[in-house]
Amino acid sequence: MVNKQIKTTKSQEIFAAAKHLMPGGVSSPVRAFRSVGGQPIVFDHVRGAYLWDVDSNQYIDYVNTWGPAICGHANPEVITALHEALEKGTSFGAPCALENILAEMVIAAVPSIEMVRFVNSGTEACMAVLRLMRAFTKREKVIKFEGCYHGHADMFLVKAGSGVATLGLPDSPGVPKSVTSNTLIAPYNDLEAVELLFRENCNQIAGVILEPVVGNMGFISPKAGFLEGLRKLTQEYGALLVFDEVMTGFRVAYGGAQEKFGVIPDLTTLGKIIGGGLPVGAYGGRRDIMLMVAPAGPMYQAGTLSGNPLAMTAGIKTLELLQRSGTYEYLDKITKYLVDGLLLIAKETGHAVCGSQISGMFGIFFTPGPVHNYQDAQKADTNKFGYFHQEMLRQGIYLAPSQFEAGFTSLAHTEADIKKTLQAVRNVMSNLSK
Ligand SMILES: *Cc1c(COP(=O)(O)O)cnc(C)c1O
Repeated sequence: MVNKQIKTTKSQEIFAAAKHLMPGGVSSPVRAFRSVGGQPIVFDHVRGAYLWDVDSNQYIDYVNTWGPAICGHANPEVITALHEALEKGTSFGAPCALENILAEMVIAAVPSIEMVRFVNSGTEACMAVLRLMRAFTKREKVIKFEGCYHGHADMFLVKAGSGVATLGLPDSPGVPKSVTSNTLIAPYNDLEAVELLFRENCNQIAGVILEPVVGNMGFISPKAGFLEGLRKLTQEYGALLVFDEVMTGFRVAYGGAQEKFGVIPDLTTLGKIIGGGLPVGAYGGRRDIMLMVAPAGPMYQAGTLSGNPLAMTAGIKTLELLQRSGTYEYLDKITKYLVDGLLLIAKETGHAVCGSQISGMFGIFFTPGPVHNYQDAQKADTNKFGYFHQEMLRQGIYLAPSQFEAGFTSLAHTEADIKKTLQAVRNVMSNLSK
């Protein structure tokens, strides 16, 4: 056990003050721990696989700042590169050679991407890609899947995952019906439902957007044939296929889920890892489609800080580190060790838990499963997860504060870290009421 006598006095003070300053005390909703109970931890610094809070407690981290810290937090090589870039200034608001370098790396890595546009977040990337889908096809409707999250733009806040699912919110107030009336919803992993929507809305659907491996309603893999089926249907109906790889890009494989599953979409969104811990997003795809984007074409999209040298530097260095041989094999090995161990301990201690992983991305649900879509995920016992989460925190293990978020490992996690984590799981599950 790492922090048996964990005291979080300073965290609690700071968070209490934050609640008067910022809605819910946070800059992003899931951080407030609303669905798991207990108090959010306020952090002081992070390094490798570890986090240190303002009360000097140390935690093993499985949130990875929601994915970007795949090489470990504050990776020394990324930090050194950032120091050098910092000396040259933080933003040019003009072309910078580093953009070419990261663009070349992204184009070389991600099978569908022939041209790319950098933005500042995954939300921005998804907003822009939707506009591009509509501009290119001259159609307005779009299909998304229940429980998938594509950032917080209006037209995606229909049956959305991540914080919306975590907080059990209905679709957000403030989103006009006129904006979401063109967003059609299907259950994940359900090709027939998608085909029906295409038949009912012939020649009106611009495309289908999805998380090719889901991380925002908990971790869910695509069923065999699902991605291939979507590729076929979109082609049949003259619509575009868009993979939102903000989470899966450079995570489930260097070239993302499209490389892993061999299904090539028309457009792809990226974020998280390609910023190496700084704010970045990107969208890219077929050259003929990307040439619609201003100023090459008429579809407008812009950004003051887009492509700034610090974010580009952190992204370039992170991708360089990921190119080293054995990266994804290592992530796969330690994450499998973790998930297999978790499932075994759950079984031995009599808890119904299902779970799985791909490379450095994983998830467990407190339900016998299997979980193939949002409805299945809803069967998970969130109270039990909340209790599990709080107790794991006391043992020095920092898990995502929601049943409906994926977990992440990094190259900095060692077998010893996983072993410690599994010991904590055993301690907690042995005392967890059924
Ligand atoms: C995180 C995420 C987003 C949103 O990215 P932000 O940088 O938080 O705006 C969009 N899509 C997916 C799949 C994500 O995981």
